Parts: sequence; structure tokens; C-alpha cells
Amino acid sequence: MSNEGLVIVPIQQKVSFRRRRTVVFLGFANSRSQFLSAVILSSKEIRESILSSINEIIIRRPDDWHLHVRDGAFLNAVVPYTAKVFGRAIIMPNLTPPVITAAGASAYRDRILSSLVDGEDFEPLMTAYLTDVTDPAEIARGHENFVFTAAKLYPAGATTNSDNGVTDIANISRVLETMEKIGMPLLIHGEVTDPDIDIFDREKVFIDRTLEPTLQRFPDLKIVFEHITTKEAVDFVKEAGSQIAATITPHHLVINRNALFTGGIRPHMYCLPIAKREKHRIALRAAATSGDASFFLGTDSAPHPVSDKESSCGCAGIFNAPSALEIYAQVFDEEGSLDLLECFASLNGPAFYGLPVNDGSITLQRGDRPRDPCLSVGHEEIMPFEMEKPVGWKIVA
Ligand SMILES: [Zn+2]
Repeated sequence: MSNEGLVIVPIQQKVSFRRRRTVVFLGFANSRSQFLSAVILSSKEIRESILSSINEIIIRRPDDWHLHVRDGAFLNAVVPYTAKVFGRAIIMPNLTPPVITAAGASAYRDRILSSLVDGEDFEPLMTAYLTDVTDPAEIARGHENFVFTAAKLYPAGATTNSDNGVTDIANISRVLETMEKIGMPLLIHGEVTDPDIDIFDREKVFIDRTLEPTLQRFPDLKIVFEHITTKEAVDFVKEAGSQIAATITPHHLVINRNALFTGGIRPHMYCLPIAKREKHRIALRAAATSGDASFFLGTDSAPHPVSDKESSCGCAGIFNAPSALEIYAQVFDEEGSLDLLECFASLNGPAFYGLPVNDGSITLQRGDRPRDPCLSVGHEEIMPFEMEKPVGWKIVA
């Protein structure tokens, strides 16, 4: 059978979180969507040869499990990019001032919903910003009232607007006990802030100093290790059991730390955690495209005004929302794992959070994607993430 003109239609994909593997059955349909055959792709060679000739893929509508949309005019400018593609997004709470109460999160959610332009069916999932003085009762109430989906731990000073974050994890022990009891996930920016630790080692040191002891102390607390950037983080999550999962950004799959210095300093490639050596990028790509249910999509799309990026002290953050899903598709294609894109983008996250998967679907086609223009927001501009070559996949429906 020739594969030309065939479309991947995942007909039944099951995520078994406990067993940490995804069983993939693929349906192949012709252009009139007539079902032709179903195969279990067990042989690596057969799988790669079939997948490399696929020009279109339909996946269940994905979610973004890590997103910054800011506020005000910026919020209105950036939310539509995400809402067009993703059914839900975990909204990061690092505004100024941060989102620390359920009332604050509820009002923020309303502002996000009112920014939707075409009546998109998009659900913002709100998070609480943890501080040294967070009241466990407020977190529990917000969770019970379906305002807070999760809570975010920023070590104080680790990244953009994290000055009010937690100075010592011991200060939030009671909050973590409560979250463990009510089954509310803790989302962690996993870097130490100790200035004596090299910036490229901060994630690795965080695992030893904070993450591992926290897992042991709160064995039933669900933890998402956000935007992992190192092989050490990949290995840790793989081995730590079903208590922990990790998000992986599109930019950490396609750039290493050299991208920051290509021909000069490149402020638009700067984010935190900072991109690492090539061996770490390779480990992240292997993890994301492996089908392991403990890894899922989280863009960490984080817009800043160009004037704040191109500055003597430029802000950390990459705005990738316009092309995130297409970049992931390209990575899965390059790794011979297109059939596992849906697991990473649409199934593994809901399985970990205990939420249903989305209705609806997104169709991607092979072909050069047009580059994104800069966004004008008032007198400011936001520069979308761009790779050297055009992205080789585009969303068509
Ligand atoms: Zn973030």
C-alpha cells in the first residue's frame, strides 16, 4: 500500500500513567477519510518508514500546561494565539502583584475570557502563586470552588516577577500538606537561586537540594517539574514514579545555549531556565517523543516588550505561542515519532491532572510555515520566537 496522501488518524490511544507507556494504534485514512487499516506500530523500521511519508496528521485538540499571558493590552494581544489552538492552558500567576487569592484568580480568569475574539472554546486553568505566608485554607477553598487547578512554587528571585516567591520550602510545609491531602498539583520552577551556583547548574542542584526531599516528605503530593532543561531532570522524572511529571517547552527542544551567542548576544533566545548544552537538548527530545506519559506539552510562552528584551538587562522569556504546536510537530517528525505527538500534546497532561481530554481536533500539514510578524501592542512590540529555517509544519484546521 502506498502511503502517499494518507493521513494519520489516531483511532485509539491509551495512556497508562502507572505503567508509563502509551499504546498506540494508528488508523490510516485516505483523503476522503475512508478508513483503510489499523496497525500497531511495533517495528521501529516499519514505523519510521510509514511516519516519514505522512504529510498530514490529525490530533485531538491539545492543551498548554504552562503559559504566561500577562495582563491588560498584552493579555488581549496574546491570548487569541493560544485559544485558537489549545483547549485549555495552565495560566501562570506571576503578575505584578502576583495572583495569590482565589478572588484574584477568578477576576484574572474573567479578564482572559473577555479577551477571546472569535468565541473560541478555551478554558484558562488558574493557579495560585505561593509565598512564604500563603494560607493553606485559601488554597483549599480556591481548589474546592474550582478556581485554582494548581499552585505554583517560584523560588524567590528565580525568574520574571518571582520576588514574592518562596524563600525556603520549609515555609510552605502546611500548604503542601493540604495540597497533598486534597490532590492539588504543585507546579515547580525547579532552580536554586543561590548566586554561588552556576546558572547552568541551578536546575540540577535544585533536584538534589529541594525536589528529591520534597517528594520523600510528601509522597502523595502530585508535582509537575516545569519546563525541564537538563538530562538530569529527564532522568529524575523517569525514575521517580507516578508522583511527578514534567513539561517541556518547544524552544528547549530546538535550541541549545549556543543560540544565545550566535554572532553576538541574542536577547530573544534568553529564557529561564536558560537553554543548556546540546546533550541536554538531545535528552529532552528523546523524553518528549518517547511516549512516556510523564512528559507533556507546556510552552512557557512568555511575552515581553521588545524594549525590555533588547536592553542592558534584558528580560527572560520567549513568546512562542504563535508557532508552538507546529514546532513540536516538527520535532516529533524529525525524531520519527509523529504518532506520539498526540500523547504528548493532548493525552498525557489530562491523565496526570485527572481531567478529561478535549473534544475537537487540530489538523497539521507538512509544508513551510509562514513566519510570524511582530505584534504591535500600543507603543510596544512583541517579537515571536523564530528559528533560522521556517517551521516545516502548519496548522490547517
Ligand atoms: Zn513560566
